[in-house]
Amino acid sequence: MNVSNKYPTAHYRALDAAHHLHPFSDTKSLNAEGARVIVGGQGVWLTDSEGNRILDGMAGLWCVNIGHGRREIAEAVQQQMSEISYYNTFFKTTHPPAVDLAALLAEVAPPHFNRVFFTGSGSESNDTVLRMVRTYWATLGKPDKQVVIARRNAYHGSTVAGASLGGMTPMHKQGGLPIPGIHHIAQPYWFDDGGEMSPEDFGLWAAQELERAIDAIGEDKVAAFIAEPIQGAGGVIIPPATYWPEIKRICDEREILLVADEVICGFGRLGRWFGSEYFGVEPDLMPIAKGLSSGYLPIGGVMVSDKVAAVLMETGDFNHGFTYSAHPVACAAAIANLKIIRDEKLVERVANDIGPYLQKRWLALGDHPLVGEARMVGLMGALELVPAKPSRRRFEGDGKVGLLCRDFSFRNGLVMRAVRDSMILSPPLVISHDEADELIRIATKTLDDTHAELKRQGLMG
Ligand SMILES: *Cc1c(COP(=O)(O)O)cnc(C)c1O
Repeated sequence: MNVSNKYPTAHYRALDAAHHLHPFSDTKSLNAEGARVIVGGQGVWLTDSEGNRILDGMAGLWCVNIGHGRREIAEAVQQQMSEISYYNTFFKTTHPPAVDLAALLAEVAPPHFNRVFFTGSGSESNDTVLRMVRTYWATLGKPDKQVVIARRNAYHGSTVAGASLGGMTPMHKQGGLPIPGIHHIAQPYWFDDGGEMSPEDFGLWAAQELERAIDAIGEDKVAAFIAEPIQGAGGVIIPPATYWPEIKRICDEREILLVADEVICGFGRLGRWFGSEYFGVEPDLMPIAKGLSSGYLPIGGVMVSDKVAAVLMETGDFNHGFTYSAHPVACAAAIANLKIIRDEKLVERVANDIGPYLQKRWLALGDHPLVGEARMVGLMGALELVPAKPSRRRFEGDGKVGLLCRDFSFRNGLVMRAVRDSMILSPPLVISHDEADELIRIATKTLDDTHAELKRQGLMG
């Protein structure tokens, strides 16, 4: 691929600093440092403006499942733009890409999902969820069932509803969130919160927090429980094996809807089309985005089960939607993307081939003196950095070690993300065995570099 950056890095950095406010960033300190300029991407590899090749261990932001730079998507998009580049779906109209994508989603989703509501992003999908679950109960004559139970340290997006459903304290602190009607319970994060309990006991306890919350609020007031199958932005938190079966039991016994936020776990990340399938749960709604288009164009949606759809059919007008709901060009990109995932058997590849291959090598990083736990399901993993294993005690400084490690990783040629002192990995599903070996080689060097620096600073032990 021919990448052309017409100007030197300093040119982009200066204009970026002058005019661009970055998401989730301290713009002042970023400007002092200068942003890294990414100019190209092919497969799992990124190229920056200095000509460095970097292995994209995060698939962009958990989304580029088919890898960067696929011509099929560019061609599908170009073709669609030349036919009908935009039309809405509000006023008794539809178009072929909306229809084809909806039908394709019904084909790959579990059998009880046959309908989708399109949005432009994961956040919009969760805004849609909030209004949909409340409308569902109102239509059934139970307008008091309004409260949505979510989890602390969950991520459901950055719009007002998304951030409110999410359980990120730093987000709640800005802008007066969460909005009323949302209740947060414990997350199933044994490594940090498990105390003296076994993972199995802790998983049961965390799940039963849902039952206790329903009883405290009153079942006649609770609309739904929302959760990511595996928390992504919270730190790739893989619940203990006891957690999801217990949640399923509670949701089966109680009259509330279960919403699985599949924005990251969907589309092959866990070696199933949807993460809830990996854990054997049957949600009523599934917000989707990210891997739906592999990030080539922004698009999201909410998969609606037959049970919920049957009620919505009786609602009359659902007064909700977005200008770009079912944007034809974004739909065309998503269709081409899903066909690649299906025809190249990427889901099966994660379950049976590259998943087990990378997991084995990643879990072996748990032997490193800096790593208190290594975990991975499908192609979604984390390393917990600690000063004195086997203790789960954390470093002082609330995430400084994670940032140090992340900077070493970038310099060594691998994108890993730091969530406090957890190192996070979520590479494209097309990563080859050789590339996985290279990833592990760089991750090992990065742990060694970080460990040496922490020893030098007297912070280990
Ligand atoms: C990224 C993410 C969202 C928000 O998606 P956006 O497209 O950024 O709005 C919602 N839920 C989960 C689980 C996510 O990871």
